[in-house]
Amino acid sequence: MKLFGKKNPAWKENPSYSALHARVYSRRGKATKCEICGKTTGKIEWASTGSLKDVSKYKAMCASCHAKYDKDIKNLRRRKK
Ligand SMILES: [Zn+2]
Repeated sequence: MKLFGKKNPAWKENPSYSALHARVYSRRGKATKCEICGKTTGKIEWASTGSLKDVSKYKAMCASCHAKYDKDIKNLRRRKK
């Protein structure tokens, strides 16, 4: 079991991102509807909106909303620093 959290120097790279996503899929099933725009076609994926470890904090998003969301988050983080 790898260490999670900010103490892990590799935290920013999210080395266990896919493993955590696999956990979301097993707990919540396949993402079928984008919670942002309501789209049900195309690629819908789970996006973390809080702690990566908290399965309940994941939202189903289509690829375009997910990309936009990730971009907004990165901008927010950049502004904070
Ligand atoms: Zn969407």
